[in-house]
Amino acid sequence: DPVIGVLALQGDVREHLGALAESDAVARPIRRPEELDAVDALVIPGGESTTMSNLAITFGLLEPIRKRIAGGLPVYGSCAGMIMLAGTVLDGRPDQESFAGIDMTVRRNAFGRQVDSFEADVQIEDIPGDDFHAVFIRAPWVEEVGDDVQVMGRVTSGPAAGRIVAVRQGNLLATAFHPELTGDLRVHRYFVELVRRAADDAR
Ligand code: GLN
Repeated sequence: DPVIGVLALQGDVREHLGALAESDAVARPIRRPEELDAVDALVIPGGESTTMSNLAITFGLLEPIRKRIAGGLPVYGSCAGMIMLAGTVLDGRPDQESFAGIDMTVRRNAFGRQVDSFEADVQIEDIPGDDFHAVFIRAPWVEEVGDDVQVMGRVTSGPAAGRIVAVRQGNLLATAFHPELTGDLRVHRYFVELVRRAADDAR
C-alpha cells in the first residue's frame, strides 16, 4: 500500500490519518523534511492556512514541499489545505505563503461572511454515487482556474450554488470541504487510487 504523509503542523491531522488508514494507505504524520522524503504522497489538512504557512517556514518545510510538488508528488488538500495549494490567495494575510502547484485563485473565508460553517450538497465529477454531503468551515472557494485545472465539484444548491469547491490539476487534488469529518471515504479512496497510478506511471 502507498505511504501517505499528513502534514502535521496544525489542523485536523488525526481525522485524515484515520480516513487514509481506512482507504488502504499507510498513513504517517509529517513534521520534518526527512520524513517528507519517505512518503509517496501528502495530505494537507484543514485548519488555518496563515498558521500553517508560519509553521511550514519555521519547520523548514516550505521549500522541500514546493520542490516535491514540482517533482510530481501527489498532494490532496482540504480547506486550509486547498489554500496552501493555490497559486493565488485572495483575502489572505500579506505574509502568507502557499506551496502553490494548482493554477487557481482561491478566496479565503469566502462563504463565511454570514455563517462560519454550513453543509451543502456537492456533486463531484469522476466520483460515482450520491452527491457529497459536504461540511464547510470558514471555507475558501475557487474564483478562477487555469486551463490545466479540472473543475471537479460545485455546490449544487443554496445561496452558494455553482461555486467551485473541488479541483484537480495532474497529481494535485483539493476540496474546500472536509470529507475527513463526515466518514465518507470516497475522496480519500479516489486520492489513494491517484497515488497508485502515479507510482505505476513512474515505474
Ligand atoms: N479559514 C481557514 C484558512 O484560511 C480554513 C478553514 C478550514 O480549514 N476549515 O486557512
